[in-house]
Amino acid sequence: MDYRKRMEFLAGELLRHQHLYHVLTRPEIGDAEYDRLLDELLLLEKRFPQFASPNSPSRRIGSDLDNAFPERPHAVPVLSLDKLYRPEELGQWLLKTAAAAGSSVGFAIEEKIDGASIVLYYDRGELQYALTRGNGLLGNDVSDNVRTISQVPLRIDEPSRLAVRGEIYIKRGDFERYNSGVAEKYANPRNLAAGSLRNLKSALAARVPLNIFVYEGFFPVPSSGTFRAGPDIPGGGNAGRDHLEILQRLRELGFRVNPHLGFFSDDEAKRRRALQLFPDSTAAPLAAVEEYVRRQAAIRAEVPYDIDGLVVKVVEMDVRQELGTTAHHPRWAMAYKFDSPQAQSELLDVQVQVGRNGRVTPVALLRPVALSGSTVTRATLHNQDYIDMLELGIGDEVSISKRGDVIPAVEEVLEKSERHPGIYKLPGQCPFCRSPLLKEGAHHFCKNEACPERRRRALIYFCAKEQMDIETLGEKTIAFLFAKGWVQSPPDIYSFDASLLAGEEGFKEKKIARIRASIELSKSRPFARVLAALGFEGVAAAVAGDLIAHGLDTIDKIIAAAQKNDWQVFAAIEGIGETTARLLIGHFSKPENLQLIARLKAAGLKFAAEKTESERLNDSFAGQVWVITGSFAKFIPRSLAAEEIEKRGGRVSENVSSRTTHLLAGTSPGSKLAKAQKLGIVIVDESEFLARVHKNSSLRFVAK
Ligand SMILES: [Zn+2]
Repeated sequence: MDYRKRMEFLAGELLRHQHLYHVLTRPEIGDAEYDRLLDELLLLEKRFPQFASPNSPSRRIGSDLDNAFPERPHAVPVLSLDKLYRPEELGQWLLKTAAAAGSSVGFAIEEKIDGASIVLYYDRGELQYALTRGNGLLGNDVSDNVRTISQVPLRIDEPSRLAVRGEIYIKRGDFERYNSGVAEKYANPRNLAAGSLRNLKSALAARVPLNIFVYEGFFPVPSSGTFRAGPDIPGGGNAGRDHLEILQRLRELGFRVNPHLGFFSDDEAKRRRALQLFPDSTAAPLAAVEEYVRRQAAIRAEVPYDIDGLVVKVVEMDVRQELGTTAHHPRWAMAYKFDSPQAQSELLDVQVQVGRNGRVTPVALLRPVALSGSTVTRATLHNQDYIDMLELGIGDEVSISKRGDVIPAVEEVLEKSERHPGIYKLPGQCPFCRSPLLKEGAHHFCKNEACPERRRRALIYFCAKEQMDIETLGEKTIAFLFAKGWVQSPPDIYSFDASLLAGEEGFKEKKIARIRASIELSKSRPFARVLAALGFEGVAAAVAGDLIAHGLDTIDKIIAAAQKNDWQVFAAIEGIGETTARLLIGHFSKPENLQLIARLKAAGLKFAAEKTESERLNDSFAGQVWVITGSFAKFIPRSLAAEEIEKRGGRVSENVSSRTTHLLAGTSPGSKLAKAQKLGIVIVDESEFLARVHKNSSLRFVAK
């Protein structure tokens, strides 16, 4: 007998049966027959160790030798993903990314399995080695343990080099069975999966029923056979394919691909194709994403393994390339986490904040604690009722949670302090102006309109991104100008002498020029934004838009309507109730408000809606953040271009940053162009910009 040939035959058969059993769940032979083949191979490998293959199925039983885990470089960089915690945020991210891509893109949504991340490297059809994620550039070689996992193909029908990313996990039921039989318990399935991969004896790793799902393939450039490929280094062998085709190819090669897949695109043909490739997937338009995400969160316990969120990815490889990556994360993918992280801390003190409308917010000052990548020192306490509900006092041990970028919240008291028993009570007076705090509804208020804190907050609100968007006037700069007495109310922003800043620390010539430019740019903000920026209670952007859309499209018309002193004039407008109507009458008849408006009008702010604004132009630029640089033939001054962007729902900002999606570059664009190119931002010249604007100008002319 040719023992070598016999061993190769046995190894091939055993691998085939393992695949049929573990991956396809379609076994062709029984356990006894399988064991007979395996025993024969083991016997032969003992007699002829020189013929044994490193990928022999016998490796699946593992060895009693100690494994060391040498470090190896990853051939593809393994980036981590940015995270969000709320379905609305994910929906917004999707729309923003689709807008930045500028064409009809598709997104795949996959389960984020709570296991151990792995990268499998193949060459000439054989598994060469398997690396943990490590630091993204170097991983630990855990090949011996990964070879014991029957769902990992040791041989594949793909001669060139290939890298495959996946997640190794253990089912909850298997975890419980395993834990009940061992003295040293694991905290959760993920710890057991990760611990098994790092078990020094692969025979022990082999006893843990590990599973794998793969989710990215990095196919090489066909000619060179090197890893200049994949979504992280786009182009190469993945070029021209999309993510779904890559998953499909991985499936053909014998890898386990998670069938629970969502596909979202506004392109119907793309949705049809996704369903052909993945019949069990969900395919729907982009608008359906939030609902899908909520549902997946609700049914997460229905799968037999732990998932801690979802991963959303752009499927088109060329779009991935266009969007590029930040220093840490790809811009074409986002993780959505089901649970916001929690941590334990101590309430050191409570700070009383007063908002522009006088509302008091207690803020917890906490013993610094690390929570999802940042150090938390403050958390919101909402109001006195919330504090009473928690029965919270200074010195208590508390649990805090964090959701995305929102400021952290105190969730519950874990242990009452013995030093300061009792519940914290808000002071009776405003800490800034000493006027008494009055309770209205759930909140306390400082009713003094001259309160310095209220005025400072009103300035911050006026300059904020959502209102006048004066980027250079952040909280710190405003506090400085306010303390100096140079800027006390919004009209001062347009009249104070910026050259006064020249002698001040931290204000170099360049910075002063930027402050001037961004104040000037803010004069182009449309009427609806100006109206909201006034900060009158009850007149946020939505109400401002409603007034304009219903013919009250200049400040004079609104003031005239208020002077009728009949709330029904305003309440006749859809979306405005009696309470808001009465507030509007109050705001727009108050002499000091009318004076404020007159001063801002004199400064050059827009107090009448553009014809187009009142018609609510389309949202074709929604989610886009533009920076304008250089000079233009048609748009003189440049703020005219800014108006076109804002009328279509886009945002204009002064400086190129990672948030910028588009750069409008005129002649002599300067350093902003270079920076935008470096960040991979979409660069648009004047004629292209005009084309985009015209394409989206099929205006509905509403007869008035
Ligand atoms: Zn006050």
